[in-house]
Amino acid sequence: MTGQPPLHRFGGGRYDQRPPVTRLSFDPAAFARPLADLEHVTAAVARRLATFGLETVGDLIEHFPRRYEDFRDRKSIRDLKVGEEATIRGEVVRVSADRTARRRVDIVRVVVRDDTGAVEAVWFNQRYLTRVLQEGMRLSLRGTFRPQGGRQSFAVKGHEILEEESGEGVHTEGVVSVYPASEQVSAKLLRGLVHAVAPAMRRLPDPLPSALLVRERLPGRADAVTAVHLPRTLAEAKLARERLVLEELLLMQVGLLLHKQEQQQLYSAPALPAPADLSRAFLDGLPFELTAHQLAALDELEADLRRETPMRRLLQGDVGSGKTVVALYCLIRAAEAGLQGVLLAPTETLAAQHAETAARLVGALAPAELVTASLTARERREALARIASGEARIAIGTHALLQEDVRFAGLALVVVDEQHRFGVEQRDALVRRTERAGGAPHVLHMTATPIPRTLALTVYGDLDVTTIAGVPAGRQPVVTRLVDEDKREVGYDFVRKQIARGRQVYVVCPAIDESESISAATAVAEAERLQAGPFRDARVAVAHGQLKSAQRDDVMRSFKSGELDVLVATSLIEVGIDVPNATVMIVEGAERFGLAQLHQLRGRVGRGSEKSYCLLFATAETGSSQARLEALLETNDGFELADRDLEIRGEGQVMGSRQAGVPDLKLARLARDRVALLRARELAAELLTADPGLLAPASAPLKAAVEDAFGHELGWLLKA
Ligand code: ADP
Ligand code: MG
Repeated sequence: MTGQPPLHRFGGGRYDQRPPVTRLSFDPAAFARPLADLEHVTAAVARRLATFGLETVGDLIEHFPRRYEDFRDRKSIRDLKVGEEATIRGEVVRVSADRTARRRVDIVRVVVRDDTGAVEAVWFNQRYLTRVLQEGMRLSLRGTFRPQGGRQSFAVKGHEILEEESGEGVHTEGVVSVYPASEQVSAKLLRGLVHAVAPAMRRLPDPLPSALLVRERLPGRADAVTAVHLPRTLAEAKLARERLVLEELLLMQVGLLLHKQEQQQLYSAPALPAPADLSRAFLDGLPFELTAHQLAALDELEADLRRETPMRRLLQGDVGSGKTVVALYCLIRAAEAGLQGVLLAPTETLAAQHAETAARLVGALAPAELVTASLTARERREALARIASGEARIAIGTHALLQEDVRFAGLALVVVDEQHRFGVEQRDALVRRTERAGGAPHVLHMTATPIPRTLALTVYGDLDVTTIAGVPAGRQPVVTRLVDEDKREVGYDFVRKQIARGRQVYVVCPAIDESESISAATAVAEAERLQAGPFRDARVAVAHGQLKSAQRDDVMRSFKSGELDVLVATSLIEVGIDVPNATVMIVEGAERFGLAQLHQLRGRVGRGSEKSYCLLFATAETGSSQARLEALLETNDGFELADRDLEIRGEGQVMGSRQAGVPDLKLARLARDRVALLRARELAAELLTADPGLLAPASAPLKAAVEDAFGHELGWLLKA
């Protein structure tokens, strides 16, 4: 047949001969042995394999099949049915070849016989086979029986020469593994090699404790690896894969939890005394009742703060769920203990907003200090002096607060708002900056980008997670509409009515190639267009990252206080901004935004009791942008959207991938292997409870495997 890969040579042997089992003796070091050492791998083949990423026996063993073909349906020649694919075995009776006159196709014809009859097997354009196939050879053939030029013949899809009478075929019989392959390295070559190293697989050591294997009814590693590559049945392959997936996830979870344990043993944080007057006054003074979820979150945080073990917690809650007030409570708790707390925000605008909120809700209870890059040198010096002396109890700011010259009198707590907006390095810097010998503050990370539990357990696997589900009562879901270009005027008409009622409007311009200057220019032009046309009777202003921060603060303050009706902005508006009177969010070029980002943008409205609207203008939708926008129309639930996002994009993309620390998984897929991941987490916790630090000699293989598999992946965490 056509399309068959070219001749593969295992050294001097015939390419399509079953590769003889290698005579290497497989001591454990053999896994590190180069594939070139295999008897039938020539230097050229070894080079191709190396280019493909396979250099050692171990590499090959870890190159798992993508899927399987079930070729167990072997038939006697007499029983072949027209049109049906099957495997037959037989002896070569006659080999011939001819060439069609018109289409100039070489046809190799081989008459094959078994106990029940004979059939003519045909190959197209593989003339070399006339030199390979000889009378008397035993063949196993996979193909389809069908009419061919007036007679019935067996069109061959795959074939192999059987060496021994009893030998099983590797490529055409039984359950056949299909490997990820390339032009240079065919699945057939890989399959042959895997058979050659099968003895090595059977000697693989098992990093998992045998008691666990027995209890979980899991095959040992050697059996599982062998069965994944060379299964006898599909069920066997499935079970084996499950075991290897669980192992991979378990090693990752043990790694993460081990790291957490080590951190918590290395450092201790101030255990805060029981809540007193200050925190009570704060709670009593709130202008609203906390929701049950906020109260539950407070309880979990309270328990952490009372311990000496440094808190490492992620507080996630949908946009508008009310995380800030929870953070402020914790900061007050630090202040009331005579210590200090820090609240870090990713943008100056957000830091300024938090400072205002703190002034309003905390006010006289604890003096707070705002530190951003826009302070004058003198203001900054004075602010830092108040922080260093302990006069300031709460410091709010951007990463300007992470600089070397910032000193604290007694830092008990760091809260990182919208923590996903901070780079990994910034998070590292934060932790390093705040650690003293043996001591470290409690750290609370907050995010409104809900993370599917699967990702929370991987990227943030060394953090505890608290979730604020739902939003305060009285909120109505934001009505989301995708507006066609020809309905744009109708949309504006609707928005004008909202403005007439005293409501406020955001207009977000498309994100353009990460370039803030182009985005800014677009926003300025859009603001001018809207002021001159559709919103000519309204007060329109623009905010973008190119403005001086004092100017931007001015605009934000005017919008917040109701002096502006329409705020045109770049996507910088996305994080955190809280203006309850704003009820319309217009997103231009919605197809250019990610799902999480769109949900964040939409979360800027619907924060008060008024009905709110999100109007999406999109041009040139691609398939995936279509899927994103549809998801957004269907649900207001950030957690559900996060799951959808994971489906649409795959886990690698969701968090900005490796940069954010998603470990590289060989077999497991977070979206698919969710149940296994949760189980792995439980088992990992169990193992580390039984043997904290994995110090017992019996745990040594497990610990070594963890370091081997995920040591470098966890590098940024281990540094932290
Ligand atoms: P996010 O979780 O997105 O950071 P915020 O903390 O900014 O949300 O809160 C959103 C809005 O909801 C703010 O205006 C805040 O004052 C208000 N809010 C918070 N908790 C409650 C509550 N329990 N009841 C009513 N409003 C609340
Ligand atoms: Mg917030």
